[in-house]
Amino acid sequence: MKFQEMPYSRVDFEKAAAELDAIMEEFRNASSAEEEFAAHRRYYALSDHIRTMTVLSLIRHSIDTEDAFYSEEKDYYDRMLPDFANREVQYHHLLLNSRFRGELEKKIGKPAFVNMELDAKSVSEADVPLMQEENALGTRYEKLLASAQIPWEGDVLNLSMMTPHLTSPDRSVRTRAAEAVNSYYLSIADELDEIYDLLVKNRTEQAKVLGFNTYTELGYCRMMRNSYGRAEVENFRRQVKEFWVPFAEEVWENRRKRLGLDRLLHLDEGVSHRDGSPRPLGTPEEILEEGRRMYDELSPETSEFFGFMMDNGLLDVFSRKHKQVGGYMEYLPEFRAPFIFANFNGTSGDVDVITHECGHAFQGYLIGKEDDVREHWDITMETAETHSMSMEFFTNPWMERFFGDRAGDFLTSQLEDAVTFIPYGCMVDEFQHIVYDNPQLTPQQRKDAWKKLEQIYKPHLDYGEASSFYAGGCYWQRQHHIYTSPFYYIDYAIAQTNALQYRLWMETDRKGAWESYLKLCRLSASDFFGNMIRAAGLPDPFADGQIQRLADGLRELYRNMI
Ligand code: ZN
Repeated sequence: MKFQEMPYSRVDFEKAAAELDAIMEEFRNASSAEEEFAAHRRYYALSDHIRTMTVLSLIRHSIDTEDAFYSEEKDYYDRMLPDFANREVQYHHLLLNSRFRGELEKKIGKPAFVNMELDAKSVSEADVPLMQEENALGTRYEKLLASAQIPWEGDVLNLSMMTPHLTSPDRSVRTRAAEAVNSYYLSIADELDEIYDLLVKNRTEQAKVLGFNTYTELGYCRMMRNSYGRAEVENFRRQVKEFWVPFAEEVWENRRKRLGLDRLLHLDEGVSHRDGSPRPLGTPEEILEEGRRMYDELSPETSEFFGFMMDNGLLDVFSRKHKQVGGYMEYLPEFRAPFIFANFNGTSGDVDVITHECGHAFQGYLIGKEDDVREHWDITMETAETHSMSMEFFTNPWMERFFGDRAGDFLTSQLEDAVTFIPYGCMVDEFQHIVYDNPQLTPQQRKDAWKKLEQIYKPHLDYGEASSFYAGGCYWQRQHHIYTSPFYYIDYAIAQTNALQYRLWMETDRKGAWESYLKLCRLSASDFFGNMIRAAGLPDPFADGQIQRLADGLRELYRNMI
């Protein structure tokens, strides 16, 4: 069904609660796993409907923020959903305590049960006021950054409008842009400290209320870390420090030489080539059409997927007035339809929408079509980002269509960005462990900790004179995840190693790599992350020696490329 024609009606939560009660009753009366599963299917229908209506109103609100109807609908769900989520936890208790749990585990997977247990540990009635305060602090941070008014050449710009100037090929322009952004951050420095300090104290209090020693432990539960823990993550970071950082430093040194600079400053890091970072050719409509041709040629599965997206109006990617900024992929369960929201702006980010966001959407489309078990759809973030980041590499052979004679430059900068991202991702993660393990640290002590980490993970780093705010150990304050999605970041680093592993695999056996990728997409969340990685034939990213092997392989590929 076309997105435009998808019918919307407001969910009646009184009726929904009554239906959930009836489902629980049916479940309690079930005398076999089959009967329980029949009740569970009824629950799928109910939750699909609520999810579809919620997502539909959210999408329609973001494509036209002036539309009063959907704006009100969105607020309605913000108000009503928390209470319904609490009722769902009660239903999960029935599943967890089922007499036929073993048989149910076979049907919906072991991870589903571990996730329900993690969920039960991470929320309680007593915690709700603190969670509301946490949300309000997150909103305060987002609003503070979104309201930035930066004077720029007679104009006033917000932070995202500054990006093209911050990455200008003209170094004097980006220096001035960095100075302007620096002044803005300095002007809000105290408020940034205050918000974060309150967040750390709030989250620590939440952890205490729920019986944890620190928020670190609660953060792991909330991220649904159902199959690896702190020890594995620490071992991953240790290997990155030892074997990956030297490789990333080699990449930065190449960038410095390519840009013809004596000193690579932080404000130069976002520019890959002397004549600027590669930009896609063609109009936004042409980029979409090239996307269709590319996915037609890539595989029968991707061809069907992208045709479905285009034919049903499931990509809203052109910038328009009254459209929300940013981008996302959402899924409409009743229509088995992914939806991609983005704002094309003429940078290589437009192509990332076609590759990265479509990687997420492709996996959603595939699993929605082939697998009816909703719990298999609930992927954790390191897995989801593996789907999307890998698609960025699987689409490499088509980049000439998007970038013309600068396709080679694009591929170089893409690989460099992927390699240099991993130390940054680990640094963000280690920082958060320090912060939440030691909630008594002062804002200044947190900044000192960040500065120390910078010396370990990015030894070349040189902020120069235009970025004194960052130089004071404050760079992390511009990273939204640190404020609003704690402990979500190592997921990107883990996923990036998987994607780079596919990049290497494609060099020698593209067909095998693609088949493995399809298999991983289809496994979705039917098993634990490590098991699925092994089943797909990928090396375990946490295993000793793996980071070194990957760095060695990629270094060779990279040196041949530049
Ligand atoms: Zn993503």
